Amino acid sequence: MSNAFLEAEEHVLTTLEKDGSRRWLYPRLSPGKHWFSRRIVGFSLIALFVALPHLRINGKPAILLDITAREFTLFGYTFLPTDTLLLALLMVSVFLTIFLLTALLGRVWCGWACPQTVYLEFVYRPIERFFMGTVGRGGVPRQQTAGWRYVAMYAVYLVLSMLLAHTFLAYFVGVERLGRWVTQSPIEHPGPFFVMVITTGLMMFDFVFFREQLCLIACPYGRFQSVLLDRDSLIVAYDRNRGEPRGKLNKQLPVIEKPRGDCVDCGLCVKTCPTGIDIRNGLQMECIHCTQCIDACDEVMEKVGRAPGLIRYSSQNAIENGSQKFLRPRVVIYPILLTILLSTLAYNIATKKSFDVTLLRNFGAPYTISETDQVQNSLRFKIVNRSDKPEEFTIRVVQPDAVTTDLENAVTLQAGETETFPLLASAPRDMFLLGQATVEFEITNTSGEKRAIQCQMLGP
Ligand code: SF4
Ligand code: SF4
Repeated sequence: MSNAFLEAEEHVLTTLEKDGSRRWLYPRLSPGKHWFSRRIVGFSLIALFVALPHLRINGKPAILLDITAREFTLFGYTFLPTDTLLLALLMVSVFLTIFLLTALLGRVWCGWACPQTVYLEFVYRPIERFFMGTVGRGGVPRQQTAGWRYVAMYAVYLVLSMLLAHTFLAYFVGVERLGRWVTQSPIEHPGPFFVMVITTGLMMFDFVFFREQLCLIACPYGRFQSVLLDRDSLIVAYDRNRGEPRGKLNKQLPVIEKPRGDCVDCGLCVKTCPTGIDIRNGLQMECIHCTQCIDACDEVMEKVGRAPGLIRYSSQNAIENGSQKFLRPRVVIYPILLTILLSTLAYNIATKKSFDVTLLRNFGAPYTISETDQVQNSLRFKIVNRSDKPEEFTIRVVQPDAVTTDLENAVTLQAGETETFPLLASAPRDMFLLGQATVEFEITNTSGEKRAIQCQMLGP
């Protein structure tokens, strides 16, 4: 039975063959002016990605995302698990910044700064081109590639992926802990060793096999593009008015009779595209704005003696109507919201004390009566030492004087430590009005910093 019924007439997706198998992309290299600028930015970012976990600000790592301890250190400030509000402010600010950047500059992050693009295009792809013999021009590898080239290429990939995995993990475990993992035998640290092997494997999988699929099917950012962009956002666009009707260049025709647009239908913009799309079909989710098609087309335009910019950075409105608005509601609203959020965040960080205290009621009966006829409430003090040194904390009752506690000694907390202490508060019966009595506690640390906290004791 014929399976023609099931066969697609053309490629449904740029990275799938008609029979559904993976279509491998070997983009042609277009070393134009955007490529050179991107390469400078790319290598600077690689240096930054490697350096960031090693840099220290205020004695802390520039970035440390310690998930097991639930602490995030960003540029000298540590967000503790109790900093829910600050973390929420930070996350919303990050999202708003992405919204604003996309509204103004389109997917500039994807094409110029995303580690996936930077490492793939400036590290892994050049290595592939080197070993496959297409260095400097890209494209499909030659038919007969010697076996040793593959072995050497995968060996280099493996070493690079290990280095990359170490850099990646340094953001989550810190360079000190990573250093111990690296210098000690895997038998002593089987867990970390296993994590390192898995991370290296994931790097290999991503940069050697998965590649553009990460942008096309795994990354959510491209899918949000339709709501994040508007018709005045900066995009990589093909100028249809100028390019169409496209057609092969016929040098025999006098220029005056030229019946076609500027696109000579050479297909280089497609061959150079790392996601395999044809930018002439308009703005597409798969376009990561890498600018390779701009460089490819400018090269062609120069050769055929036409002005560059048939594919260029522009906007949908500018291409279609010749006009572009900079001021739109979203580019006004996002910065206003961002300013409010970041000011609130900065104020909260600046006014944060060196320790936090939370008073909690213990489980069980709301109160008990002691043998000496005292009303007793079982409480818990949760103290967070936010400072960089060990601190001692004393807790005392400020008022009323009649209230006593069983916590006599100071409690010690290491830097960044959180601890919960039980405390039994006792008060005379006649202190309670309608079953409640207000008590004020004062918590003082070694540095003399004080915190007052009020509590409603429950009684008869
Ligand atoms: S269409 Fe152009 S800018 Fe978009 S991904 Fe392809 S080459 Fe890059
Ligand atoms: S590179 Fe330029 S001229 Fe060639 S097909 Fe693409 S748009 Fe047309």
